[in-house]
Order: sequence, then structure tokens, then C-alpha cells
Amino acid sequence: MTDDCMMHILMLSFYNNQRRADDNSPRDLPDMTTRIGSGQAIFTTIPACKRSHKDELLRDGTTEAMLDSATKRKLYAQPGFPRPLTQPPSLAQRISPAGKKGLGMFATRALSAGGLILSERPLVVHPLGAPLYTGDQMGLFRLPQSITGRVIETEFEIEVMVQRMVTKNRDAFISLTNSRDFSSCGNLVGRAYTNGLDVLQEFTFAGLPDDSGAYKGVFDKLSRVNHSCTPNAVFSWDSLSFSGSLRAIRAIQPDEEITITYCDPSLSTAERAAVLAPYDIVCDCPACKDGAASDARRNDIFAKFDQVEELESNDAKRETLLSVIKLIEEEGAEVLPEYYEAHAMLLEIYQEEKAAEETDAEEADAEETDAEETEGAKEEQGTEEAKEEKEENDTTAHEKEGNSEETKSELEEKKSEKKDIEPEQPEEEKEVVEEGEPQEKGGELREKEGALKEKENELDEKRERENEEEEEERKVEEKESEPEEKVKELEQKVNALSLAMFGRPFLPE
Ligand SMILES: [Zn+2]
Repeated sequence: MTDDCMMHILMLSFYNNQRRADDNSPRDLPDMTTRIGSGQAIFTTIPACKRSHKDELLRDGTTEAMLDSATKRKLYAQPGFPRPLTQPPSLAQRISPAGKKGLGMFATRALSAGGLILSERPLVVHPLGAPLYTGDQMGLFRLPQSITGRVIETEFEIEVMVQRMVTKNRDAFISLTNSRDFSSCGNLVGRAYTNGLDVLQEFTFAGLPDDSGAYKGVFDKLSRVNHSCTPNAVFSWDSLSFSGSLRAIRAIQPDEEITITYCDPSLSTAERAAVLAPYDIVCDCPACKDGAASDARRNDIFAKFDQVEELESNDAKRETLLSVIKLIEEEGAEVLPEYYEAHAMLLEIYQEEKAAEETDAEEADAEETDAEETEGAKEEQGTEEAKEEKEENDTTAHEKEGNSEETKSELEEKKSEKKDIEPEQPEEEKEVVEEGEPQEKGGELREKEGALKEKENELDEKRERENEEEEEERKVEEKESEPEEKVKELEQKVNALSLAMFGRPFLPE
């Protein structure tokens, strides 16, 4: 038995004596220090228990963590650490059976892209401890002695943290799935490896070789979220609140299973299957069901996205970016960084166009003002002339109107005259009168009426032209406001995607 093992056993008996059954109240356990690899490990409860924060600790939960001293110091150096957790406005998820996958997380209501599903403090945070071996390298007898030693030590370390936990956290940890139930792994390490999510990415545990210093977090609820290569949610870590968050990357329907990806989504179907095998996952997501089609589409996405930089015109870039976005949505791979990038690049293009149009509009305004000033001067000069002309026109119109009125009354007079004389007139004369004089007068009238009609038509046409011009102006205005609306729309989308992907809002430059 090594000194380290002896130390662990002593620590375990210490916590076993401290432990009370069913104790969920925040406890003020002292930090414990031990040597791990070539570094020092601190077993600590985060946040440190303060009686004044009891309600907050009960609400947001506590984590048992194994950190190196630099990580712990930097965490507490953050102003306001640990910030209280932000939760969705109403419950958005439930844990329910998910068929052969065991338990899973499901949406209890509709969610839109960027929507917060859950924030949670981890049960445990610890460094990976030993390099993760996959496939047939996994058997204990094939691992180098130093690594098997580390795996056994890690089991002890996690045991220490489990013993330090409040009862409900301990029960939650023990009830998690262990997909690494084989001789090389202890029960607790197996659970930690099966359910660990990447946390504290900006820190590394000093003193452990390769990537085994990377921190992993095990969560009560967030670790229940199953894998899909076409996930609808993304997990992100926030060191300031010491919590993980889950947000929708696209719209999610009520009762839909919430999924994240456990592997790099840019891998091929075969590569993903190899990474997922140690988790006992044979993925049956739409991408894996038709691997060939999915691989081809993903390759198409990457090739098209790479082209964008080489394109010259904004129109060509926009067209390619829109086709990248469409392909990603068809693939259900909104989790690809290219999806966020494509939206951010589109936003830049529209911002550029908006700025250019604003400059154009300013220039046009300036020109218009110049033109108006010149015209104004001209108008002043020509006012007298215009007035005279207008008066003349008015008079003509008036005369014409007067003429037609005259003609009408004349005709009426003639008609009445005719009526008056009718009975007295002989048949022949009557005919003459009917065919002659009144017809002549009627013709004159019709002519005048025609002229009037023509005038009216002219006016109608003028009005129509004016309406058309107004319509054109409206259309131009609409077109001008298009980039502005697109900028607003894209800002919202990029912000939602930024929240989902990185756990922080998008900040325009
Ligand atoms: Zn899959």
C-alpha cells in the first residue's frame, strides 16, 4: 500500500465519522490537501459554506471539487464569485425514460433557439486523472502500470468527494449510469467517466500528464442528457457561477427529447461511432441512420463554407452562406461552429450594406438639398412668369367652362323654343328644324363635352402617374429598410446562437 492510498483511507474514515444520515444542509467542511501525480490537490466544497448564504446554497447547490491550488485561487479571484445561477422563467425539462438509452431529458414546453433549458452546479468536479483509453486498449492488463495506478487513485479521490457530499448529491451521483463497468475502472471512476462533461476549460490541473489534467464535471440532471449527432441543445460552462447550462440550438417542441453531442460534430459517421463506443452508445440519430448521405452533406457544408473567404462580391458570399445554413439545417447539425459563423458573417454583410446605404442616403439628401436650393432660386426668378401663365390657364379653363355652360343653356333654350313652336310648325319644317339647327348645336355641344372629357382624362392620368410615383417611392424606401430589418433579425439569431454555443450573449463590435 502506497502512502497516498493510506492517506485516502484515513480521509475516508474522517468523512465517514463526520457524515450524518440524510443531511442536506450546507456544511462547512474544511479543505483537504493531498499529493496527486507531481502536483497538490485540494478537496474543497464550492461555494464555500457561509451561513448568510444558506438559502442560496440550498437553491443553487454545492459541488465537491478536486482542484489544484492555482485553479482554486483563480476561481475565487473572479469578482462576485460564485454568482447565483440563472434559471429559465419556467420549468423547461423533465427526466423520463428514453427507451433503450435509459433515462433522458425531455422538453416540457416549446423552446426557441438560444432558450435556457437548465442551469446546474455539478455534483463533482475533478481532473480526468488518467488519459482516456478507448476500444481494445481499455483492458487493465494492457494499460501501463503508471496509468492503472492512477485509475485506482482516481477511484479513491472520487470516493473522498462522494463522502463529502450532502445526502441528496450522493444519492444522485450513485444513481448515475456507469457504462465503463469493467475491471480497469472502479465503480465511481466509471460513473465519472461516463457522465463527465467538459468544465473549467480555461484551467488545467497541474502535475498530470497529457490531457489528463482536463477538468470534468458530473451533474445530477445535465449528465442525463443523451447523445445525438444531430443534437437540439448545447451544454456550456460558466466559471463565474460555477455551473453548467443547457440551451436550445434550434426550436424544440414540447415532449421532444433534449440531446447534446458527446463528440466533435465535424467527425465522419465512422469516426463518431468509434468515439461513442466506450459510452456503450450505438447512435441511431438521423445522421447515423444514413451515414453515407450525412457524410456527403457534412463534407459539402465544410467545402462550401471554406469557399466563402475566397469569394469577392457580397452577393456571392451571401448566396453561399445561405446555402451552407440551409444544408446544416437539413442535416440537423446546427451545433457545428459553421452554423454560428455563417450567421455572423451574414450579419457583417448586411451591416456593411446598411452602412453603405446610410452613406448613400446622406449623400442623396445633401444633393437634394443643393438641388432644392437651386430650384428655389429659379422659382423665385420665374414666379412672375409662372403666375402670369397660371392666371392665363385659369382664365382659359374658366372661359371653357363658361362656354360649355353657355352652350348647355343655349341648347335648353333652343329645345324649349322648339317645343313651343312645334305644334304650330308644319311637318316638313319640323323635320328641317330637327335635322338642322338643333343637330348642329348638339354637335357643337358634344365637341365641347368631348374636350371636357379629355381634360378630365388628362387629370385622371396625371393623378394615376402621381400615385405610381408614390408607389415607386414607397418601394424604394422598403428596399432601403431591408438591410436594416435583416440586421435586426440576424443580430437576434446570432445572439441566440452565441448564448447556446458559448453561454454568453453576442456583443456587436
Ligand atoms: Zn448519430
